[in-house]
Amino acid sequence: MKNLSVHLTDTCNNSCIFCVVGSHVGTPEKVNRKLVYEFLKENKDGGFEFVNLHGGEPTLLEEFPDIIRMIKELGYPNISVQTNGRLLSNMEFAKQTINDGVNLCVISLHGHTKELQDYFADVENSFDEAVRGIKNVISLGCKVRTNICVCKQNYTQLADIVKYSMSLGVSHINISNLHTAGNCLKNFELVVPKLSEAIPYVKVAVDACVEAGVKVTLEGYPMCVLGDYSKYLIDWEENQFKMLYKSFVFKNYNTFMENNAKMKGEVCKECAKRNLCGGVYKEYAGAYGFVELIPEAEEKKIV
Ligand code: SF4
Repeated sequence: MKNLSVHLTDTCNNSCIFCVVGSHVGTPEKVNRKLVYEFLKENKDGGFEFVNLHGGEPTLLEEFPDIIRMIKELGYPNISVQTNGRLLSNMEFAKQTINDGVNLCVISLHGHTKELQDYFADVENSFDEAVRGIKNVISLGCKVRTNICVCKQNYTQLADIVKYSMSLGVSHINISNLHTAGNCLKNFELVVPKLSEAIPYVKVAVDACVEAGVKVTLEGYPMCVLGDYSKYLIDWEENQFKMLYKSFVFKNYNTFMENNAKMKGEVCKECAKRNLCGGVYKEYAGAYGFVELIPEAEEKKIV
């Protein structure tokens, strides 16, 4: 599936301690809206199935409803919004957003309690509003995928977090390794867990989704630490993204990320998965090295 992806804004009404973009309350806006409109127009006949809007927090923009309507008028079949869900707690706004054409909301839910989610977002009520937002859009017939970033503070509670998400009626849960850029890099020691410590809990959370029949995907992990669970990694060949980020256009965002944000170690050279796997984020490798990686043996050729 080909997707178009647009960074709509730098601003946000949360200040998440692991935000990869580094958006937070009070970040000045540097996105040129004219470039966004041009990008959407230029690509309207490119066979893109989804336009994915993200930021920062895209729903904060005054022009957000106009942009949604413009995307529909240009003929794109589907629109997804990556959001913290807080503004969708207002039913009128949720109705307008869904009626205008958004049919998938990707909502951050990193905790199953007010204490946990509000701590991450550094905003009181972020949990209550996100949960109301999820319930509102589901009641309006919109699909919801929740995204959980796995941190030091929540990895032992992942099973409870996915169970809570499922109790809200979400149709897909994505569990994501922390991308060590933006606020996540600034707060590296505070938030980034070792893969070997977090992965057993990730697997239990995946099992809980599978058992309940809810779609689950994993993102950003090296294949070897997951073992058989690597089959749940998002297939980026199947889900390609062309992205506009400020004035940069990435023709294939995932390839760019694999080549620039991640790295492989000596151990990867002999690994049978080396052409399928991006390795680990560079800053993670700098802090924890490659000792947790277990290369997969090449199948022996019978002569
Ligand atoms: S050893 Fe390296 S290439 Fe092989 S799966 Fe692990 S990280 Fe990927």
